[in-house]
Amino acid sequence: MDTVLDVRNLNVFYGKACALEGVSLSIPRGEICGLLGRNGAGKTTLLNALMGLLSISGGDYRLNGQTARGVPTHLLARSGLALVPADRQIYGELTVRENLALAAHSRRSGPWTPDRIFRLFPRLLERSEGLGENLSGGEKQMLAIARSLLIQPSVLLLDEPTEGLAPIIVQEVIAAVAEVRREEGVSVLIVEQNLKAVAPILQTAHVLETGRVAWSGPAETLIEDESLSRSLLGL
Ligand code: ATP
Repeated sequence: MDTVLDVRNLNVFYGKACALEGVSLSIPRGEICGLLGRNGAGKTTLLNALMGLLSISGGDYRLNGQTARGVPTHLLARSGLALVPADRQIYGELTVRENLALAAHSRRSGPWTPDRIFRLFPRLLERSEGLGENLSGGEKQMLAIARSLLIQPSVLLLDEPTEGLAPIIVQEVIAAVAEVRREEGVSVLIVEQNLKAVAPILQTAHVLETGRVAWSGPAETLIEDESLSRSLLGL
C-alpha cells in the first residue's frame, strides 16, 4: 500500500502532561481518513504536531517517504502538507480575492489556481470582493480550505471543518473535500466530531482516546457497528 503519511509511536507533551502517547497511524495515498475521538482526546494536538507546530518528544513520522519530524513548518508546507486550523485564520480586513492572492503568492505551481478554486466554491466567487470578516462561518471555512489548496498540497489536514455550520453548508464543505480528493488525488486527514456528516466520504478511520489510538480500520466498520461507535465516540 502506498502511504502518504506514516506516523510511528508519536509522543507529545504539554509540559509534564502527556497529550499523545505512542500514536501510530498511516494515511494511504489518495484516501480520506477520519480522525475521531471525544473532546480532549488529542486530535488537534496530532494535527499541530504533524504540521511542525508542536515539539515531538518521541517517535517519528514520514511524509511521502521522507522523515518529517523536526522539519520546520514552512518546509513541510513546501513538501505538500497543509493544515486548515479549526479557527480558520483568514484575514478579516482583506477581501476573499486578496486572501487567495496572498496564499497563491510565491507558492509552487500546480492544479489549484484562484479560478479553479472559484469553480470548487462558487460561493466564494459571489463573495470575492467582500471582506473576510463579513463572511458567514461556512464561507470562512471554504476560504480557509481554498487558501490551503493554493499551496498545492498532497496531504490536507482539516481540523473540524464543519464545526458550527448549518447542515446544508456542512454538506457543501464535505462535498468539496470529496471533490478535491477525487479530482486531484489529495489525501486528507479530517478531524470530526460529527461522524454522520463525514461518513459518506471516509475510507478509513482512526479513533483517539486520551492520547492513544483506540481503534483504526475501514470507516464502514465503524459507521455500521453502532455499539462500536457508541463505545468509542459516545454517540
Ligand atoms: P477537542 O475536540 O475538544 O478540540 P481534541 O481531541 O482536539 O479535543 P486536544 O485539543 O488535542 O484534543 O487536547 C488534548 C489534550 O491536551 C487535552 O487534555 C487538552 O486539555 C490538552 N491541551 C491541549 N492544548 C493544550 C495546551 N496548549 N497546553 C496544555 N494542555 C493542552
